[in-house]
Amino acid sequence: MSMSDTSSAIARGHELQVLIDELYEKYLPHTAGEVATYIPELAKADPEAFGVCVVTADGRRFEAGDCDRLFTIQSISKPFTYGMALEEFGPAKVFEHVGVEPSGDTFNSIELQNGSNRPFNPMINSGAITVTALLHARYGHKTFEYLLDRFSVIAGRQLTFDRAVYESERRTGHRNRAIAHLLLNFGLVHAEAEAALDVYFKQCAIALTCRDLAMMAATLSNMGRHPVSGRSAYSITHVKDMLSIMFTCGMYDYSGQWAYRVGVPAKSGVSGGVITVVNRQLGIGTYSPRLDPYGNSCRGTEVCVEMASRLGLHVFDCLNVGSSFLDAIL
Ligand code: GLN
Repeated sequence: MSMSDTSSAIARGHELQVLIDELYEKYLPHTAGEVATYIPELAKADPEAFGVCVVTADGRRFEAGDCDRLFTIQSISKPFTYGMALEEFGPAKVFEHVGVEPSGDTFNSIELQNGSNRPFNPMINSGAITVTALLHARYGHKTFEYLLDRFSVIAGRQLTFDRAVYESERRTGHRNRAIAHLLLNFGLVHAEAEAALDVYFKQCAIALTCRDLAMMAATLSNMGRHPVSGRSAYSITHVKDMLSIMFTCGMYDYSGQWAYRVGVPAKSGVSGGVITVVNRQLGIGTYSPRLDPYGNSCRGTEVCVEMASRLGLHVFDCLNVGSSFLDAIL
């Protein structure tokens, strides 16, 4: 592939493609972890499914495995709605409702921050429901339509949502319902908490592929502009805030280990997706539904740990192999 070719076509034979093929083959036989079942519809996922896609900040794409398979975005939606709330209300107002501290607790924790009673951060359910309620206070019954349009711009194609997964979570999501009511009790969400929760369930059921995830991650790595369509999805100020929270809180109570081992911002979802953002360079999307006890994809973590080490992606990699290696091969 010529260095001037900036199309999103798959570049077979490229050094990065060779690495992705190798990692895909290496981790394909790994079967650790369990598919999420607490949302009954998610239990139907194929545990063997596995896809890895990398998109450069200028739109070149490299991939292996199941990159066309649709699954639901789940918690990977959270940094994106957080960015929208920042844009809509400004960081000061959003901060009154949700903090920026790692919780060191599970994604569905019912604990709120001592003193303020705010959720610790927008990457856990309580914080994300608060963020969606803020958007709902502004957009009312049009909120989901608005969200789906925004997510489609970030991904660079029209996305849809999976009604079966949405209804399954709406039927069984009593814990999130309890969280929404607790937030209502503390005046952190407006009176229509149930309606806002419904939007949150729909937002989690947006259907996409791991190629879409890589594109969305690449939009963040490209300072908020979709690398192929060229459309602006976020201003750089908000991207900076989104990436900071993903770095400290994106992998829940594994975030410290992720920062230590991978060293770049990321976000996971219980359906098995992970996005990883290498600022100004790459967006990575992985899909593999078997999860570790933290609710993060096992193979997703394994691939990202190894890719970060092989490409020197860690932000504090003193040798800084990352930038120079990527400069050389991209
Ligand atoms: N919709 C899921 C929930 O609220 C999202 C959780 C996740 O992906 N970690 O439980």
